[in-house]
Amino acid sequence: MSTKISIVNVKEFETIPEAVISAIKLIENDLGFDITQSEKILLKPNLLTSKKDACTQPAFVEGVISYLKEVGVPMSNVYLGDSPGQSEKFGSDVAKEIGIYDLCEVHGINFINFEANKPIIEKIEGASSLKEIRVARAVKECDILINLPRLKSHIEATMTGAIKNYWGIIPGGLKANYHLYGKTAKQFGEVLADNFSWVVKNKQKRFTVYDLQNIMEGSMGPGGGKMVDWDLILVGTDELALDIVAMEIGKIKPSSVPHLKNAMERGLGIGNVEEIEILGVSLEEAKKQVPKFKVPGGTFTSFIAYMTGHIGYKIYKKFPKLLKAKCIKCGECAQNCPAAAIEFKEGDFPIFLRNKCISCFCCAELCSEIAIEAKTRGLSGLFH
Ligand code: SF4
Ligand code: SF4
Repeated sequence: MSTKISIVNVKEFETIPEAVISAIKLIENDLGFDITQSEKILLKPNLLTSKKDACTQPAFVEGVISYLKEVGVPMSNVYLGDSPGQSEKFGSDVAKEIGIYDLCEVHGINFINFEANKPIIEKIEGASSLKEIRVARAVKECDILINLPRLKSHIEATMTGAIKNYWGIIPGGLKANYHLYGKTAKQFGEVLADNFSWVVKNKQKRFTVYDLQNIMEGSMGPGGGKMVDWDLILVGTDELALDIVAMEIGKIKPSSVPHLKNAMERGLGIGNVEEIEILGVSLEEAKKQVPKFKVPGGTFTSFIAYMTGHIGYKIYKKFPKLLKAKCIKCGECAQNCPAAAIEFKEGDFPIFLRNKCISCFCCAELCSEIAIEAKTRGLSGLFH
């Protein structure tokens, strides 16, 4: 078994959309299906929050639309949708704020709010934790799925990219509730791999256009990390292979990312870089032009937990910490906490209840003011 991935350097093109078209063309004969024969193509960007940096860049969406037009796909057959993390926001709210909704209007593409229709209940065969999910109807019903992730560091999952972007196929606040199945980083990795396994089994016609042009890194990702230019675009049909190549480029061991490790163990794609054929820019060249990807220190926490068992884990386990100077007392964090671990009264700062908190960091991910950071408990953790 092997797979192909195209890599292009955005700097070799006048614009990002041109680079996207070129990256897709390098691989179009290996997609395994005819894109012009579809009646329902769904574009699935990352519309996490109304912060532009936290979402797929509109230029990537524009590049995919231009490619589809070029090969003769009628725009009436193209749909775009996602479900943001914030329970009180629709995908269209975020898309309007970051400029993707305008693109859909200009090109006559149908925008779909995943929350607008009743989700479909789907069983996940062979799941480790998540035996059943609610999937957005638009995802279930599309013929071809085009995944449009952006590479970002992730406070709980270490990184988010090709596989993690499918977390958004679960509509609205349900996503946060499913965090309860994965209370540790390792368990959450299993949950993400379970969700991904549904995609692998049910959506065979799909490919990914991966935004590695301007990535997010550091401990405040995926909502408010530091932006760095990598100037790369990856395209392929195997999300695990794509995430592994992205981690190779960023000099991060893929097995240190819980959901990648789990997906590799379960054979949910190509997990060995030797079995990936690169088209375009070589892996070595790509590695040279990119600095080391800075991810949150989950690996160290896990290592300590492994080495010293419970004591180290108690000290190094992370909890949300409020940065009062930034907090605007909006209460959004409390509305999105799946464990009801945040008390909020109108006009007051939120209060985090450590005995209930499962350290999922949905609160940090969705706080528009970047007013929540992950902090280890230190020695006080021994008393929890
Ligand atoms: S921490 Fe963020 S989400 Fe929570 S109340 Fe403050 S500003 Fe709002
Ligand atoms: S307080 Fe934050 S980290 Fe803790 S369970 Fe709630 S959303 Fe997750």
